[in-house]
Amino acid sequence: MDPVEVAAAPDAGPGPAWQNKCPWGAPNTTSISCSLADVMSEQLAKELQLEEETAAFPEVVAVTEGPFISGENVDTSSDLMLAQMLQMEFDREYDAQLRREEKKFNGDSKVSISFENYRKVHPYDSDSSEDEVDWQDTRHDPYRADKPTTTPRKGFIGKGKDITTKHDEVVCGRKNTARMENFAPEFQVGDGIGMDLKLSNQVFNALKQHAYSEERRSARLHEKKEHSTAEKAVDPKTRLLLYKMVNAGMLETITGCISTGKESVVFHAYGGSATEDKVIPPECAIKVFKTTLNEFKNRDKYIKDDYRFKDRFSKLNPRKIIRMWAEKEMHNLTRMQNAGIPCPQVVNLKKHILVMSFIGQDQVPAPKLKDVTLSSEDMKKAYYQVLQMMQQLYKECNLVHADLSEYNMLWHDGKVWLIDVSQSVEPTHPHGLQFLFRDCRNVSQFFQKGGVAEALNERELFNAVSGLNITAENEVDFQEEIETLEKMNEDHVQNQGKKLLMFSSDGDPPIHSE
Ligand code: ADP
Ligand code: MN
Repeated sequence: MDPVEVAAAPDAGPGPAWQNKCPWGAPNTTSISCSLADVMSEQLAKELQLEEETAAFPEVVAVTEGPFISGENVDTSSDLMLAQMLQMEFDREYDAQLRREEKKFNGDSKVSISFENYRKVHPYDSDSSEDEVDWQDTRHDPYRADKPTTTPRKGFIGKGKDITTKHDEVVCGRKNTARMENFAPEFQVGDGIGMDLKLSNQVFNALKQHAYSEERRSARLHEKKEHSTAEKAVDPKTRLLLYKMVNAGMLETITGCISTGKESVVFHAYGGSATEDKVIPPECAIKVFKTTLNEFKNRDKYIKDDYRFKDRFSKLNPRKIIRMWAEKEMHNLTRMQNAGIPCPQVVNLKKHILVMSFIGQDQVPAPKLKDVTLSSEDMKKAYYQVLQMMQQLYKECNLVHADLSEYNMLWHDGKVWLIDVSQSVEPTHPHGLQFLFRDCRNVSQFFQKGGVAEALNERELFNAVSGLNITAENEVDFQEEIETLEKMNEDHVQNQGKKLLMFSSDGDPPIHSE
């Protein structure tokens, strides 16, 4: 049986007949005789009217290449949207029918045949309103779990005569292998982590250096790809959602693409009119989290181990996980906003699309710290500001940025603005402190290279931000202590069901109103 036959596909047939021929016959055109003067005055009136019209709407002709999506070219784009909406609706109906047929076909048979490949709607696109996670629905930050769930205890701590010291070669080698996991998520470390692989310090250090330079390189590549066309960047479904935002008056015009990254595309838009409960900023940035799933699998480690996500992660399909990134960015930005950290202000969240205030002016985004040349005075000012923001982020927002570098800091209005916080985690995340250490390394290196003599080194910065007092003199020992702390915390969570006091200055989770 050919399932394609199940529902006759009305593959857009030829244009409707009425366009060619009126089925009710030609209208009666009876000519009325009139004088020459009548005809002349009528013609004059027509000419005058035409003149008037062209004077009143001079730009009407020039709407060939308008902005990306706006209220102005609504006529043409709405036709397209309408067609797409109808098509999507039809595809869904078709799939529903297919599903019924599949069920009927397989019946109670032990061997069943799947019609999956004949579905019209890609599983990603399939949508149901019940799994929508919208700004409107989420009054509380669901990731702020005060009672973290327990995690299985794992570690090397032996018992009795089996205790091994940290200098043991085997343990060291294994630890080095495990530490590879802390390289940037993009860095492919192979299966070593799953196997009982032991890396000598020398090999580990060589790998580490390579990982750092790779990290820099991939950031540079990422940069280059940033200016591709907007059209390729969004799928029809996203276009539709964007169109709805314009249609609803939330946005005035979507002017174009600011950045095309691996995981997201960012657009500029002019804000629409304010509603009773919300003021829309004059300029907005729209971050569209990309729906190509494989780009995100590298980031699993940011949320996989995050107890804030644990319950949800296992139940979710990839599409919902992508929405979760958008949702997470929204909540993290809100926390930062409440702490007074300069960052984009959240305007709206719709599925995988986050609308926020635009940092920049007149469609020109503020430059990244890495692209701007600051006077030494400004550089120093920026450093102290970043230090303060990192402390606030940690202590007041209970967050670690986890991707902090000169690529994710913008210079605007004489100060530094933090962006890109979808991957930010709480310090008690099993790798939270390691992420913080990486942030510290990036920040410290950037400002030291930038000539800020006062800039703390990465280890001092880590202590200054976290309030911890790790005294290790070199990086390897320092990281080891970080890992020990992380493990202690995990064990504590396991035993007591709550976080250790050392992770926040006053021992209480920060209070913030939303
Ligand atoms: P990615 O995950 O792709 O790095 P980002 O959030 O860093 O996503 O956004 C990519 C780029 O888009 C940024 O480097 C910045 O230039 C620009 N951008 C993002 N958000 C804003 C904003 N609110 N205002 C101005 N520019 C922004
Ligand atoms: Mn970024």
